Amino acid sequence: MFRTIRFRLTLWYVLVSGSLLILFSLYLYSLIAADLRAQFDRSLLRAAEATAAFFEETAEQTREVSASAQETVRELRLPGAAMAIFQEDVLLASSSPSLSRDVLTASRSEMAARGHEPRIADIKGGRARLARRRLQIEGNNYSVILVEELSGLSAQLQSLRRAFYFGFPSALALAALGGFFLVKKSLAPVVAISEQAEHISVKNLSERLTVRDNDELGRLAGVLNALLSRLDASFKIMGDFMADASHELRTPLGVIRSSAEVTLSRDRTVHEYKEALKAIEQQSIRATSLVNDMLALAMADSGERPLRFEELYLDDLVEECCRAHHPLARRKSIHLSSEIARDIQMNGDPALLKSLVSNLVDNAIAYTPEGGSVSVRFFAEASNVRLIVSDTGVGIPSECIERVFDRFYRIEASRSRNNGGSGLGLAMVKLIAESHKGSVELVSERGYGSTFTVLLPLKA
Ligand code: ADP
Repeated sequence: MFRTIRFRLTLWYVLVSGSLLILFSLYLYSLIAADLRAQFDRSLLRAAEATAAFFEETAEQTREVSASAQETVRELRLPGAAMAIFQEDVLLASSSPSLSRDVLTASRSEMAARGHEPRIADIKGGRARLARRRLQIEGNNYSVILVEELSGLSAQLQSLRRAFYFGFPSALALAALGGFFLVKKSLAPVVAISEQAEHISVKNLSERLTVRDNDELGRLAGVLNALLSRLDASFKIMGDFMADASHELRTPLGVIRSSAEVTLSRDRTVHEYKEALKAIEQQSIRATSLVNDMLALAMADSGERPLRFEELYLDDLVEECCRAHHPLARRKSIHLSSEIARDIQMNGDPALLKSLVSNLVDNAIAYTPEGGSVSVRFFAEASNVRLIVSDTGVGIPSECIERVFDRFYRIEASRSRNNGGSGLGLAMVKLIAESHKGSVELVSERGYGSTFTVLLPLKA
C-alpha cells in the first residue's frame, strides 16, 4: 500500500497543497493583522485629533484651560480608551488616575528611544497603543493623550488564528481526498492495462489490450500491442518450425528404428545386415544434415552466430565449389560449366557464402535429370557481384516460386525426400544473401529448368 504510486502521489499532493495552504494562510494572516492594526491606529489618532479640537475650542471659549481640560475628559470619554491632558509635564485632567504616571513614563522613554516625540507608540510592553496630539493655546504647550488597550484587536486576531487552525486540517483532509480520487482516476487506465496484460500468456498471445484514448497511456497500450503482435508472430514461426522439424525428423528416425527392429527380429545373413546398416547410415546422414541445417538457421535467427566478415576473393570460393561438385555431376552425366570473372574481392562471411553457393549448385544438380546441364556464372557490376546458377532440370511451377524460400517447403515431398533434401536449403540461401544486404531471385518454368540469381554488394 505504501509502495503504490497511488499512495505516493497522494502524499506528494497533500504535502504540496499543505505547504501552499500554510504559506497562503501566513500571508493572509499577516496582511489582515497589519490592516487591523493600521485601522486601530488611524481611529485612535482621529480620536486624539477630535479631542484636541474640542479642548482647544472649549479653552478658547471659556478662557479656563484647566476647567476645559476637565470638561473635555468628562465629555469625550471613549469606551475602552483612557484620556489625559497635559500642560507641558503637568497633568491637567485624566480619565484614569493611574494613567498619568504610566503615560508620562511611556511617552518619555519612547521619546528617548526614537530621538523625537512619536505621534503614536506602543506602551505597556506592547499591550496598548498611545496617541499624542500636541497643541498651543496662548503660547502654552499642551498634549492630548489617548491610550487604548490592544486586547480587542488581539481577540480579533486570535479568533482569526483559531479559524485558520480549524480550517487547515479540514482543507488538508479535503485536498487529500480530492488528490486520492484524482490519482485513482488518472491511474485507472494503467491498472486496466496491467490487469489485461496479466491475463495474456503464450496461450492467448493473439489477445490485445484495449486502447481507449489517444493520450500517453493510449500510446503505451499501442506500443504494448505492437510488442504482443511481434511476440505472437515469433511464437507462431517458432511453433511452425518445431512442428515441421519434428515432422521431418520423424521419417529418418522411423526408418532407422524399423530397419533395426525388422533386422533384429530373426537371424540374418551378413549381406542382409550390411543392407540394413546401409539404410540406417543413410537415414542418419539425412537426420544429421537436417539437424545441422536447423541449427544453422536457429543460430542465424537468434544472432548466436555473429557474422564473421572479411575481405575475400569470391571468385575463388565459387570456383572451388564448382570443382567440388564435378564428381557428383559426372555421376549423373550432367554437364557442369562455369564462367567466373577473376579477382573479385568483396566483404563477406566465407563460411556462409560457401554454403550459399553450395546449396544452389547442389539443388541444380539434384533437380536436373541425367544428361542435363548446369551452368554457374559469376561476375561483378558497378558495386555488386552477380552469381547466376541455372539448370535445365525439372523446373519449378510458377505457383511455387514464391514459397520455395520458406522453411521446410518442398514442392513434391517425394522427389525431395528421394534426394535427401530437408526443405531448408533455399531458406538458408535467402537468409545468407539478406545478411550480406543482398537478394536472391528465381526464374523458372516447369520442365524447362530454373535460374537462381544472387546479387550481393561488394561492401556488405
Ligand atoms: P531441399 O533440401 O528439399 O532441396 P530447398 O529449400 O533447397 O530444399 O528447396 C526447396 C524446394 O525447391 C525443393 O524441394 C525443390 O522441390 C525445389 N527446388 C530447389 N532448387 C531447385 C531447382 N534447381 N530445380 C527445381 N526445383 C528446385
